Amino acid sequence: MIKKVAILLIILLPLVSFAQEESKADKLKEYKELLDAGVITQTDYDKLKNEILFGKKSDNLTPKHYCSYTGEEIVKWETIEYNFSEKSDASSIVSEILGAAGIAPNFIVRPMKIDNAAATILPGGQQMIYYNPGFFQRIKNATETNWAVYSVMAHEIGHHVNGHVLKAGGSRPHSELEADYYSGFILYKLGASLEQAKKCMNLIGSSSGSSSHPPKAERLVSITKGWKEAKAKDNRNDDNIEHENKEKEDIRIKEQLEDEKRKEELLKEELASKKTSVTVVYRGDPKNCMLNINIRIGNKTFTPTGSSFTVNNLPIGSTEYEITGSINCGAFGFCKSYGKGYITLKENDTLYVVWQNINYGKCNINLSHH
Ligand SMILES: [Zn+2]
Repeated sequence: MIKKVAILLIILLPLVSFAQEESKADKLKEYKELLDAGVITQTDYDKLKNEILFGKKSDNLTPKHYCSYTGEEIVKWETIEYNFSEKSDASSIVSEILGAAGIAPNFIVRPMKIDNAAATILPGGQQMIYYNPGFFQRIKNATETNWAVYSVMAHEIGHHVNGHVLKAGGSRPHSELEADYYSGFILYKLGASLEQAKKCMNLIGSSSGSSSHPPKAERLVSITKGWKEAKAKDNRNDDNIEHENKEKEDIRIKEQLEDEKRKEELLKEELASKKTSVTVVYRGDPKNCMLNINIRIGNKTFTPTGSSFTVNNLPIGSTEYEITGSINCGAFGFCKSYGKGYITLKENDTLYVVWQNINYGKCNINLSHH
C-alpha cells in the first residue's frame, strides 16, 4: 500500500509543474494567433510574451473605444493572472447569455486588472470583453446574488451586439441605455426577476451620471424596459402556443368524428352483408283456406310447403319483398293474391303471412312481424 502511494506521488508531481508550463504555452499560442490574425501588433506581442515568460507586467493594451460598466476612465490596462475556475465561470456565464440570445460570439472574453468590466475593440479589430474577477466576486457578495455578474456581462455583450465598439469615440449615454436594455432583456430570458435584474445597477450605478453614462435612475428604466419587453414577447409566444394547441385539439376532434363515422358506416355495411334465416309462418284462418303462393324476399324466391317454412341466407336490414299467387277457400271462394313492400329483417326473425279480401276475386297479401 505504502509503495503504491509513493509511486502515485512520483507520477503526480511532474504533472502539476507540466500543467503550469502548459498554461503559459497556451497563452503564448493564443497571443500568437492574435498576432497572426493582425489583431495585435508585433510590439504588443513581444510585451505580452515578456510578461508571460519573465513576469513583466505591461500597460500597453490601450484600446481606443471602450465602455466600462460604471463609466470610470480606465487608466491602466493590465492583464492579470487568473485561475481556471474564474475563467470557466466567466465563460459559462457568457455561453448562457449567448444561448438565451441565440447568437454566436463575435468577441473574446478575458480577465483584466481594470475597475469592473469593459467592452472594447483592439487596434487590430478584435472585439473584446475584459472583466476583473475580483470585481465580479465583490458584486456577487454585496448583492448576494449571481445575477449581478450576469447583468454586468450581459450589458457588455449588449455593446458588441449593438455594434457600439465599432463606432468612434467610447461610451455614449445612448449606447449605455441600449446595453442596459439588452441586459434587462437577457436577464428575463435567463429567468431573473425584475428586482434581480436591477440589483447590481441599484448598488453600483452613479446617481448623478457622467458625460458618458446616464444617471442610475435612467439606466434602471432601460433595464426595466428590456426585462418587460422580453416578458411581453414571452407571453405572446404563450398565446401562440395556446392558439396552436386549440387548433391541434380541433383537428383531433374532427379526425375522431370522421373515424367514428367511418366505423358506423363499416358497421352498417357489415350488417347489410350479414345473413340470417327467417321463418315464414301462416297461422291459418277459420275457413281453412289454402295458400298457394310464391314469396320473393330480396333476391330469394321460394314457395312455402307448410304453415311454418324456414328460409336461409336472407340479408339483415330493410329488404323488399313480393308475394304472388292465389288463396282457395273452397265453398267460400277463391281470390288472386298480390302484395309488395319492405320488411326489416332481424336475426332469426319470424314473419307472418297476412291477407284480406279486397274485391271480388282479389286479395291483398303481406308479410308482417305480428
Ligand atoms: Zn456600458
